[in-house]
Amino acid sequence: MHEAAQKKTVLIVYAHQSPGSFNRAARDVAVNVLEEQGHRVVVSDLYAMNFRANATREDIKGDLKNPEPFQYGDETMHAWMEGRLSDDIVAEQHKVEEAELIIFQFPMYWFSVPAIMKGWLDRVLVQGFAFSLEKMYNNGIFKDKKAMLAFSTGASQTMFQPDGINGDINVTLWPLQNGTLHFCGFQVLAPQIFWGPAFCPAQVRTAMLDGWQARLRGLSAERPLTFAPCELFDLSFQGGFLLRPEARKEYDSHLCGLTTGHHLGKPLPADNQIKAPPQKETSGQSASTNISI
Ligand SMILES: Cc1cc2nc3c(=O)[nH]c(=O)nc-3n(C[C@H](O)[C@H](O)[C@H](O)COP(=O)(O)OP(=O)(O)OC[C@H]3O[C@@H](n4cnc5c(N)ncnc54)[C@H](O)[C@@H]3O)c2cc1C
Repeated sequence: MHEAAQKKTVLIVYAHQSPGSFNRAARDVAVNVLEEQGHRVVVSDLYAMNFRANATREDIKGDLKNPEPFQYGDETMHAWMEGRLSDDIVAEQHKVEEAELIIFQFPMYWFSVPAIMKGWLDRVLVQGFAFSLEKMYNNGIFKDKKAMLAFSTGASQTMFQPDGINGDINVTLWPLQNGTLHFCGFQVLAPQIFWGPAFCPAQVRTAMLDGWQARLRGLSAERPLTFAPCELFDLSFQGGFLLRPEARKEYDSHLCGLTTGHHLGKPLPADNQIKAPPQKETSGQSASTNISI
């Protein structure tokens, strides 16, 4: 790694109750490898911090703009603009601002993140700070930052295949990776998935952690996942934020949809949410500019 690529800041948002857990082991691997590489690693250990998950009036200092009906999104946006958000939110927002990469480390709960981590997303990624209607997706506020999900499952990999009982993992990951991370602009790296660590032999778990360690060493060279760029859509309320007619026409001749979410009634592009595309991109899709971490 060259000099300029060193001393980046990585934030690990971590949610597990137990220091003896597999997730804790995965988190520690990341801290060790990234620190070895010269990065500054900051960990938000949400259970240890007793991080509050519920988005309430308590998050706003001082008077509300419109007390009735209470609108959490509007009030927190105003509070952010006026420096009146609660201290725990402000502290996390500072960590986000400083980070070039955010890793979310967690056990999958109900096809998503544990409630305490959902609370972090709900409360920290406030309108104005993390997104606006003018600044979203590939034009989003955090477009120069990277983010990735690193999580364990109870299920096996086959259960999350397109023909497995849980359905396609690409579909499961779309809301978090597109609807939250990429919506805020993040370049999303392929997720690190630890399949069913509680149900595999000890040597398989060790191999999973070794694989994670090796991946982290090469993370700076990884390309992000692809999402549909805003420019393909009519970005107006009048136009319904719909795919532009010329883009739709182009995709009519394509075998697959654009992304997992923008499937256009066609087969989903394979592994769209779990693998970065090969070097040569499909026309119309975008991987945002690469940054070094
Ligand atoms: C509310 C809830 C909802 C859930 N929803 C889902 C769902 O939707 N889909 C799904 O697939 N699963 C679901 N699960 C299951 C959950 O995702 C798994 O239980 C979890 O991912 C396992 O991770 P862990 O860190 O808790 O594992 P642990 O149970 O802590 O660890 C697994 C094994 O790894 C061992 N270990 C710890 N450290 C190391 C180390 N350094 N090296 C090697 N081995 C080590 C542990 O001793 C243990 O034997 C749910 C669970 C709950 C509680």
